[in-house]
Amino acid sequence: MRGLAKDLSRLVGPDGFSTAPEDLLVYRHDAIGYFAQGDPAAVVLPADTAQAARVVAYASQNGIPLTPRGAGSGLSGGCTPARGGIVLDTKRLKRILEINQGNLTARVEAGAVLAAFQQAVEAQGFFYPPDPQSKSVCTLGGNVATRAGGPRAVKYGTTGNYVLGLEAVLPGGEVIRTGSACVKHSAGYDLTHLLTGSEGTLALITQATLRLIPKPPATCTALAVCPTMKMAARIVSETIAGGVVPSMLELLTTASLAVFNRFVSPPLPEEGEACLLMEFDGTAQEALRQAQEMAAACRDMGAIDVRLAPRPEEAALYWMVRSRLYPLVVSRFKRVVTEDVTVPRDRIPEFVTQVMSIAAELDLAMGLTGHAGDGNMHPTIRMDEINPDVEKRVHQALERVIKAGLSLGGVISGEHGVGLHKAEFLELELGREQIALMRRIKKAFDPTGIMNPGKIWPPELEA
Ligand SMILES: Cc1cc2nc3c(=O)[nH]c(=O)nc-3n(C[C@H](O)[C@H](O)[C@H](O)COP(=O)(O)OP(=O)(O)OC[C@H]3O[C@@H](n4cnc5c(N)ncnc54)[C@H](O)[C@@H]3O)c2cc1C
Repeated sequence: MRGLAKDLSRLVGPDGFSTAPEDLLVYRHDAIGYFAQGDPAAVVLPADTAQAARVVAYASQNGIPLTPRGAGSGLSGGCTPARGGIVLDTKRLKRILEINQGNLTARVEAGAVLAAFQQAVEAQGFFYPPDPQSKSVCTLGGNVATRAGGPRAVKYGTTGNYVLGLEAVLPGGEVIRTGSACVKHSAGYDLTHLLTGSEGTLALITQATLRLIPKPPATCTALAVCPTMKMAARIVSETIAGGVVPSMLELLTTASLAVFNRFVSPPLPEEGEACLLMEFDGTAQEALRQAQEMAAACRDMGAIDVRLAPRPEEAALYWMVRSRLYPLVVSRFKRVVTEDVTVPRDRIPEFVTQVMSIAAELDLAMGLTGHAGDGNMHPTIRMDEINPDVEKRVHQALERVIKAGLSLGGVISGEHGVGLHKAEFLELELGREQIALMRRIKKAFDPTGIMNPGKIWPPELEA
């Protein structure tokens, strides 16, 4: 692309972009290295919406693919520049523009980091619940673009439930503002929620208006060690059926107890197959009462040990360990493949049984953790070696896990999005007609196909 550097310098200034190979290397992939597909020609870091719009218009006029990128913490290859071109990194668009106490809303730039935003909101006594476990790095733009969730989705929903309005740059460079700061809105098509979850394929999101809620006054954390994975799954579905709604309900394998034991005293018994990590919120009495009732129910159902952690400092340790488990697993194996199939909560026990037999039949090491309270399961295949035979069995396992989830009324992704990772499976969930309709929507937004090409559906359905 001759003249690209000169043009970008004119659009965003000499410090607003790079074409240096050593800079571009890190933009080839997201948190999952093996999805690297294309080499970007440039990375651009606009300082404001006006600069971002100029870059998008330039890409459009010159037919250059443009891939939006937040922190690159995605797990489905969504921000990889599959067709090369420009990666637009939102790092410099990180201002929290407004926290409106009277309206319980906030307005942020897309590159603002989730944890920093949550701290700013909580300092004023408010609460922004969506909590992907990458919150120390991931951006609100990335969260909106993937409809990210986390442990709190069981009670509070996912990012999509908090987006009231967006500022976005269309592929032609026009800036639109969808929705509003009102909690109700009934005029026209809901473009806000069409862009939410669109994985950078329709427009570049530059700002979001988000709904806040009052912060619950207290929480109480509980952990139950279960002899079998099936029992843990049964406790989850019976808890939900009984009308108890924890603010977080995570299913973990017993292997994680060794990590908890580095921080928790006295140590938890490293026995059985699974454990449940839960949080209840409300007034201090209400949170404690719910946790005690849940602990009694777990013991009645055969849990080996149940712990309560009503003190915030102790609870914070449990949740800190929870958020570090995935990076720890990734660092210990040559490759880790994580699914995020979601099933109706009353089907979790059947899903767990099927996943365990798929792992056994294909002789694969597969962990099964998840935001079980909302049915979002993360079967995680861990590979000590990579060779064609292992890769073949892993692919078979993924296909069978996804089909198992779909056969139980589930969906192929609860929060990570489709990206490259699940493109080949999308048709299994949506069917050709829905994909054809989505393709027409894509064409209406992006007639020249510059926005994040190669994502969501496989190339054969792209035509
Ligand atoms: C340790 C770890 C734990 C995780 N836990 C969770 C979890 O609990 N829940 C969960 O949902 N996810 C989780 N994730 C996945 C990931 O962090 C989320 O998907 C997150 O929302 C991605 O944000 P990001 O800023 O890194 O986006 P990126 O990875 O940079 O991009 C993700 C997608 O969004 C698009 N995009 C990014 N910014 C914009 C924008 N401004 N406009 C348009 N499109 C854009 C990209 O093109 C890409 O398709 C985890 C990841 C890791 C590494």
